[in-house]
Amino acid sequence: MLLPEFDYHEPSTLEEACAVMTALGKCAILLAGGTDLLVRMKKKDLVPDHLVSLGSIDQLKELKVSGRKVQIGALVTVGQIAESERLGDVLPALCQGALNLGSPLVRNLATIGGNIVSARPAADLPPPLMAYGARVILASEKRERTFALEDFFKGPGETVMESGEILTQISLDVPPPHSGAAYLKLGKRKALEISLVNVASFIHLNGPDGVVDSARIVMGAVGPKPLRAFSAERLLAGEKPSDHLFEAAGKAAADESSPIDDFRGSAEYRRTMVSVLTVRTLRSALARARKK
Ligand SMILES: Cc1cc2nc3c(=O)[nH]c(=O)nc-3n(C[C@H](O)[C@H](O)[C@H](O)COP(=O)(O)OP(=O)(O)OC[C@H]3O[C@@H](n4cnc5c(N)ncnc54)[C@H](O)[C@@H]3O)c2cc1C
Repeated sequence: MLLPEFDYHEPSTLEEACAVMTALGKCAILLAGGTDLLVRMKKKDLVPDHLVSLGSIDQLKELKVSGRKVQIGALVTVGQIAESERLGDVLPALCQGALNLGSPLVRNLATIGGNIVSARPAADLPPPLMAYGARVILASEKRERTFALEDFFKGPGETVMESGEILTQISLDVPPPHSGAAYLKLGKRKALEISLVNVASFIHLNGPDGVVDSARIVMGAVGPKPLRAFSAERLLAGEKPSDHLFEAAGKAAADESSPIDDFRGSAEYRRTMVSVLTVRTLRSALARARKK
């Protein structure tokens, strides 16, 4: 399958990229790693007149952990995240998400920005990022906007982004002491598989052996966008962690999911697996929280 014809632009600064996107308007699409976009263009799902590559903008490739802040440029690849020892220390669930995405070949090209902007309900990075409370920064010629990642998604393939905007950075706080998070993905195969269900859980204890101060549970592939399991989170807050509590949270999360039936799995199976993955991610998150 050949790509349709297009004009190619390769700005070397963010300002230049914003100006090009404003000038070209809806006829232009941004290109990051191309693992999603070029496949869609080959299938003729998308036939843009102009492609604007972000690949020469060094500012978007920076990954910084300084003090209590983590800043990940939109062009940082999934492979860099999977292999980063520094991120492995502070945001291990994000590294688990990255390690679960595609194959080494895909991970070397795919970017965190592309994974977020594609807004696929089954994508691997949004659940752990949301569980850690990530924010995204959008830039355009006129202004900069910041959103909590959970307010960024509107539905499959749909986000709050406006024409001419570029996702520049993902920003997170280093999680506090006595907190931990974990991510698990269920697919039909062990590699190169889109999630049937995925879950990321984060818990913060009020001391090494204390009660749950706060929790965030995010479920992927069981709704039009990654979903917070709010009633499960409320069940956990203020309680002493136990298997019984985690099972109740798993059931509550399953009740809050809204999976579909399709050829890859029934809604009932997916709901059951939300419960199983919630319990398992909570157990791993707890083990990590107690180590810190
Ligand atoms: C074989 C294969 C396996 C895959 N497996 C998985 C998987 O297991 N899990 C998973 O989650 N995904 C998977 N994917 C999907 C894809 O690899 C990821 O979503 C990837 O992270 C997309 O990033 P990219 O840099 O390649 O984006 P691109 O393809 O370059 O862009 C995707 C979309 O995002 C827009 N975009 C990109 N960056 C920006 C930005 N900074 N600002 C604004 N808009 C932007 C583009 O305009 C385009 O619309 C797979 C893809 C393939 C081909």
